[in-house]
Amino acid sequence: MPALNRTHDPALTSWLASAQAPGCDFPIQNLPFGVFRRSGEGADADGDDEDSDPSQAGFRGGVAIGDQIVDLAAAAAVLDDEASDAAWACAGPTLNRFMALGPAAWSALRAGLSAALATGSEHEEALRRCLVPQSEAEMGLPATIGDYTDFYSSIDHATNIGRLFRPDNPLLPNYRWIPIGYHGRSSSIAVSPESFPRPRGQQRPGEDGVPGFGPSTRMDYELELGIFVGPGNERGRPIPLDRAEDHVFGLCLLNDWSARDLQAWEYQPLGPFLGKSFATTVSPWIVTMEALAPYRRPFTRPEGDPQPLPYLDSEQNRAEGGIDVCLEAWLHTRAQRDDDLPPSRLSRGSYRHAYWTAAQLVTHHAVNGCNLRPGDLLATGTLSGPKPGMQGALIEITRGGKDPIDLPNGESRSFLEDGDTVTLRAWCEAEGAARIGFGQATGTVLPALPLG
Ligand code: MN
Repeated sequence: MPALNRTHDPALTSWLASAQAPGCDFPIQNLPFGVFRRSGEGADADGDDEDSDPSQAGFRGGVAIGDQIVDLAAAAAVLDDEASDAAWACAGPTLNRFMALGPAAWSALRAGLSAALATGSEHEEALRRCLVPQSEAEMGLPATIGDYTDFYSSIDHATNIGRLFRPDNPLLPNYRWIPIGYHGRSSSIAVSPESFPRPRGQQRPGEDGVPGFGPSTRMDYELELGIFVGPGNERGRPIPLDRAEDHVFGLCLLNDWSARDLQAWEYQPLGPFLGKSFATTVSPWIVTMEALAPYRRPFTRPEGDPQPLPYLDSEQNRAEGGIDVCLEAWLHTRAQRDDDLPPSRLSRGSYRHAYWTAAQLVTHHAVNGCNLRPGDLLATGTLSGPKPGMQGALIEITRGGKDPIDLPNGESRSFLEDGDTVTLRAWCEAEGAARIGFGQATGTVLPALPLG
């Protein structure tokens, strides 16, 4: 796991004033990676771009600082040696090549950028010319995501959901032994902000025994973190737990939109399918594992629970496998927006309550010889916590729709309605460390499209 170094020093400041703005998600201690282009750049890009997909034209790697983006291809000419080499690897329309380089290259670029952005740096003038205002940029999907796997790391979520279906026996016996997951769909992952039509599908039969069919009436969100894979593993070769984080580039926010009615009818016996595969929203900025070093927490199991099997257990994972990432979900309905009313907070929790660590997810995923590849995306599963107000999905908050939530403007919600916007936010704070943020993942549910 990355060690603390001078890039984490809470006293470090940047010559860019906006990096020190109160509540800014992107101070110099953060330096998250994404891909961007100047707004409108795609439209007038010339046709001889080697990337054949015109929708990707002009995208390139960047790092967020304050209200600006460092254009990494431009900064490569300013930075020295290893940092410059690493910055060149970010020049393309996705970060896969950079992700594949591994922790030494990631760390060299972080150290170089931190020094060049710091107050008093001799590179200030040259680096200022590499900045693009975030307000003039459009963000892209940071990687070509080959495969996407969603886990079920939160025991509180698993218990709350299980209770709806099996009140006497909410948690299945495998939960405390094995990280549960399913293979998701990468084609429908999009970067925030986005919108998508409400999915249609089959719903559980009523009295007549015939399934319903139509737009989902139980649309939900899931508050999760995404885990971007760095260097892959050779097929057949497992990843030991204490090497697992060498294969993790960083974390982002992830909303695993879920149609609960479609899910309830289709999920047995092979798990989630069309109830999940229509849309997944990720935040544009990836916070690296090195940036997260100050917020590590011990990973503990409640007394009386089984300890993980040896391949999922290590001293290092127990000492600092957890990460205290504060998480929030917000709802902004169309009526609230039309009346200039603020959004309503649906939950506030933390990743530190997870029952499985990111390293355990990676190791478990590869233990059978499955090969992970650079840019693959794992997700934690809905991150709920042990107390009321910490539930990361409407199905938990409203107990399957039975207890609708009342909003201050008189509206109520059991599940999401057309025009509803859900925004996920996250940040880290710790004694003796700066506050860093993840930005946000925002998505809006649109009316279902006609079938024909
Ligand atoms: Mn999920």
